[in-house]
Amino acid sequence: MKKAIVSDLSRAGDGLSTVLVVEDQAADARLIQAAFAGSGYGKFNVVWVARLAYALEYLASQDVDVILADLTLPDEEEGVGVYDRIARAAPNALIMVLSESNDDEFARQAVQRGAYDFLCKARVDGHWLPRALRYALECKAAREALQKKDSHFRALNDDLPVGILVADSKGNCIGTNAAYQKISGLTFDQTLAMGWSAAIHPQDRRRIIAAWCDEKRVHAPISDEVRFLRQDGTIAWGRVHRTVLSAELAPKVFLQTIEDITAEKQAESAVREAENALYVEREFSRVVLNSIADAIMRTDDEGNVIYLNLMAEAMTGWSSQEAVGFPLQKIFNVIDSETGEPADNPVDRVLEEHRTLGPVMERVLVRRDGVESPIEDLAVPIHAVDGRVVGAVLIFHDVSQSRAMAMKMAHLAQHDFLTGLPNRALLTERLSQAIGLARRHNKQVALMFVDIDYFKHINDSLGHATGDQLLQSVAKQLQACVRSTDTVCRQGGDEFVILLAEIEQIQDAAQVAQKLLSAFDRAQIVAGHEVHATLSIGISVYPDDGENLYSVMQNADIAMYNAKADGRNNYQFFNAKMSTRSIRRLLVEDGLRRALKEGEFVLYYQPKV
Ligand code: GH3
Ligand code: MG
Repeated sequence: MKKAIVSDLSRAGDGLSTVLVVEDQAADARLIQAAFAGSGYGKFNVVWVARLAYALEYLASQDVDVILADLTLPDEEEGVGVYDRIARAAPNALIMVLSESNDDEFARQAVQRGAYDFLCKARVDGHWLPRALRYALECKAAREALQKKDSHFRALNDDLPVGILVADSKGNCIGTNAAYQKISGLTFDQTLAMGWSAAIHPQDRRRIIAAWCDEKRVHAPISDEVRFLRQDGTIAWGRVHRTVLSAELAPKVFLQTIEDITAEKQAESAVREAENALYVEREFSRVVLNSIADAIMRTDDEGNVIYLNLMAEAMTGWSSQEAVGFPLQKIFNVIDSETGEPADNPVDRVLEEHRTLGPVMERVLVRRDGVESPIEDLAVPIHAVDGRVVGAVLIFHDVSQSRAMAMKMAHLAQHDFLTGLPNRALLTERLSQAIGLARRHNKQVALMFVDIDYFKHINDSLGHATGDQLLQSVAKQLQACVRSTDTVCRQGGDEFVILLAEIEQIQDAAQVAQKLLSAFDRAQIVAGHEVHATLSIGISVYPDDGENLYSVMQNADIAMYNAKADGRNNYQFFNAKMSTRSIRRLLVEDGLRRALKEGEFVLYYQPKV
């Protein structure tokens, strides 16, 4: 390899630039060398090579600042091909083409491909050449510095957590940073291909365009919160601030900063949802508590009232507002239903013993105005998450109606609906008690079976309703004829039973029977009709006619049938003969009934008609 280093003017000091001269004409090379030698425009280290091959070899190992290259060399390559090879080998160098004339075609093509300029060899002089090169180098340095700054700025821009979008006056996006691309879900190129509002959610877009394009506000900085709809369907929230980048620039350039507030919005939404759920829950509790028929009070852990539902307000006579803060016993004023003495406050015990108490029916609530109502109450402790008892709930309701209902049900179970008299069940109970007492006190009990004579006729002739009224009238008359300690009961149909609980002698029963017959001796007015009803009465006495209630009842019934058989409107005491006869008659009756039912009758003779 043949190389010629024509000069090394100064290797010391700042501003030393290396110039590689690629020139096969030694005279031209020397001319250039001479031009640099006498230069007052900075120091240059000038290296001369006469072949492209040498130049490429040199550039492979050395950095140069400027290359002055003749494109017509003795190498195989010629023209822009030479330029291309050199430019590839020294991408950072400033390349100037040495031309033979001002209209050198190769030089013009090289400049089009990136050469800095071309230099006509004829015009090379010691003043102009170094000065032009120094100027070119300064421009190159400045451009590189700017590029470096720009790349720093870009890096900084992309590291910013805030999205940035720059738009021209027509709204075309002319720059975005990485944070914006993340919020919008678009690539850099996609953002450049769109208007500034393209990534905004359609539901927010119209509003924000209307606001931001408003003539009055178009140059003023404005902020808003909008949603960005990404191509994958996800949504990001941005707090967008827009300002005019520089008032001096014309046309205007707008800068948008977009703060990603998705997490903030999600948190807000979660809080809102939680608040809403809490509200609905409270509303539900309020509606339920005020709709139910039970009174409900709540206390804190010291037993002070903190809540009353509407029913509790009505039952205590205290409004929630008035009652809150008072000790429970002042509002829930209760007395013992048996003694009438002040009763224990159940909440105090619940707070002490940490357990549910009740339900109990032993208290009477005294309302604020003194009205008393029997109640059933239940007190329950309220626990916090850590298990502490933080208060109690008292639930109570008025039981006067249910008590009355229970009593009514009990009465109905033991009394006849039509006449109000005790029924067979209650009579059985009372007869049993009476026999028990009589046994202990050595007394007698009389039982009278009373049946209205020919009652069916009254029903048939005057109607069932009149028959009912007669039954009610008979019930009253029977009661009027006996003592209050005796029991008159309706056995069923037109049959009544009278229990004379304690009689000294049988004669007492006869007197009562006679009194009854006399009472029905004359006609009575029933439903506007004159009705003459008479009675048939059968009497049996404990212990003479039966040792237990069943035999006493059965024998009174038998005696009554005997009274019927004896022409009615009379009374009969039971006797043993009566029994045999009646039992035989009952057996025959039973047998006939069964034979009829089972089809056991056989026809032996049928007279011809
Ligand atoms: P006797 O003298 O033999 O007793 O004849 P009687 O017609 O009274 O016959 P019995 O005592 O056997 O009939 C009672 C009738 O009472 C039968 C039934 O139709 C009627 N009866 C039963 N319960 C009621 C009721 O609640 N109201 C009315 N109006 N009639 C009733
Ligand atoms: Mg009858």
